[in-house]
Amino acid sequence: MHISLTRSSTAHALALVLLSVGASSWVVVAPRVSAGERGPQLIVLLAVDQMRGDYIDRFGQQWSHGLKRLVTQGAWFRQAEYPYYNTVTCAGHSSIGTGTIPAVHGMILNNWWDRETRKLVYCTGDDSAKTISYGKPVATAGESPARLRTTTLADELRTQLSPAARVIGFSLKARSVVMLSGRRPSAVAWFDDSGTWVTSTAFSAGPIPAVADFISRNPVEKDFGKVWDRALPRERYLFEDPAVGARAAKGMTSAFPHVVKGGSPSPDAMYYDQWQSSPMADEYLAHMALDVAEHLKLGTTPSTDMIAISFSTLDKVGHDFGPHSHEIQDVLIRLDRTLGDFFEGLDRLVGPTHYTVALSADHGVAPMPERSIAAGLDAGRIIPSTFVDQVEQILGKTLGPGQHVDCLAHTDLYLAPGVYETLKTQPAVIETVRAEIRSLGGVRDVYTRDELIADRFDDDPIARRAAHSFYAPRSGDLVVSLKPYWIIQADGTTHGTGYVYDTHVPLLLMGKGIARGEYLTPASPTDIAPTLAFLAGITLPRISGRVLIEALARPPRRTTQPSAAF
Ligand SMILES: [Zn+2]
Repeated sequence: MHISLTRSSTAHALALVLLSVGASSWVVVAPRVSAGERGPQLIVLLAVDQMRGDYIDRFGQQWSHGLKRLVTQGAWFRQAEYPYYNTVTCAGHSSIGTGTIPAVHGMILNNWWDRETRKLVYCTGDDSAKTISYGKPVATAGESPARLRTTTLADELRTQLSPAARVIGFSLKARSVVMLSGRRPSAVAWFDDSGTWVTSTAFSAGPIPAVADFISRNPVEKDFGKVWDRALPRERYLFEDPAVGARAAKGMTSAFPHVVKGGSPSPDAMYYDQWQSSPMADEYLAHMALDVAEHLKLGTTPSTDMIAISFSTLDKVGHDFGPHSHEIQDVLIRLDRTLGDFFEGLDRLVGPTHYTVALSADHGVAPMPERSIAAGLDAGRIIPSTFVDQVEQILGKTLGPGQHVDCLAHTDLYLAPGVYETLKTQPAVIETVRAEIRSLGGVRDVYTRDELIADRFDDDPIARRAAHSFYAPRSGDLVVSLKPYWIIQADGTTHGTGYVYDTHVPLLLMGKGIARGEYLTPASPTDIAPTLAFLAGITLPRISGRVLIEALARPPRRTTQPSAAF
């Protein structure tokens, strides 16, 4: 018996030929579910941790390699913004990786309070997994995407395509790359602060040979003693130097040049910290990804493979030096060069017209409060421990002495068991408590969990964003909304609010299936996974974003009719 079945559509060129061999068994002779005319052979999903959307306007004139190629040859969504409040690393990468918001994927913060165990949990923490080291033994707990409440684009590429997509992912941070590369990547690795590349038993039984081989040929220690100085003459850098509010952390000076040599004659913990805060780490990640992709011959099968990289250095440098620093400008000049080499490597590997790149960021960053204050703005810092003490005092007036706050995780306040329920029965009391918290320096508003569940905030866009970050089993009882330019951190600067300096990020697409241009239509990083899924001809089970149809290249016209349809 012989069955021939063909199907063609604009999304797929699907051809299955099934042959029977014997009475009861079937052999698939030519099983190819390719992405069709529109689909790329390789998807390259890039995140630049803490890259503000306005960095392209501010610094882009100095780029001439990879970032320039993305901006000038790709589709640039200039208004891309996160639609939620908790703009932090795990939430952002999960939103890019899945196409959904935290209220759906559940990764509300990097760490949140677990009411059952009454402990702070880490978004990728997984007690059932163990860390696999690519170097010396590492004591950290295992990590996985077990807490992620939906599938990633990477998962769906693997499960829906035949042959299955192969996915690799690299970053300095687990909470970045794990959310991009999903549940069963062919290789995934991140950097442990002890100075060792690691992965987890959640992904493989042991080290992946191609990764181990790259690391042994490229020890991080080879950068010991190198100097990070400006790539361009000093006068080509914007803003004051040293940057206002810069904290000379990690044994680094508050201005260039930065010598990456730690505090001892040989690489120590401080060296590995400094190295992660230098452009050398971004360069390393790109080299590692390209090397492993070449080794595994990614993009050379009829499937759509995927490379995910999250470049973490900008975030580390941004926290310490702020967005108005020579250091930030220089990290981007060097990332532009790193990405230029990386894209040239991909051009050689799969051909320049066969891969699709998406680049975005997990969040932006606020200016240094001291710089905003000096400019006459209402800005400042909330010290977390002081803030908790103040809330305890406010609650104590009604509830009597005792501990009423279990945890403050970013701006989520978790009250001790029973406290929120008690407050709920006394609407006048809860209003008084809110009014008093609202009167604390830097606080704009306070939302209760019931308000966030109801999500009736039509007249308050910041509150709506808080509702989009709210996932009931994990979120706080009260969520604090800060005033603009206020941060909840003792030094340096940070991100994590619904203000545009935190929510506005680059969204750049380039390559197969993409029409170049600047787009001013509303867009979000949650649109990336749906758009790439559309190009690859697969279906995501749940999306909060949309397919960015305005940036899709018109597929080539068909010259033949489908031979059969069903
Ligand atoms: Zn950060």
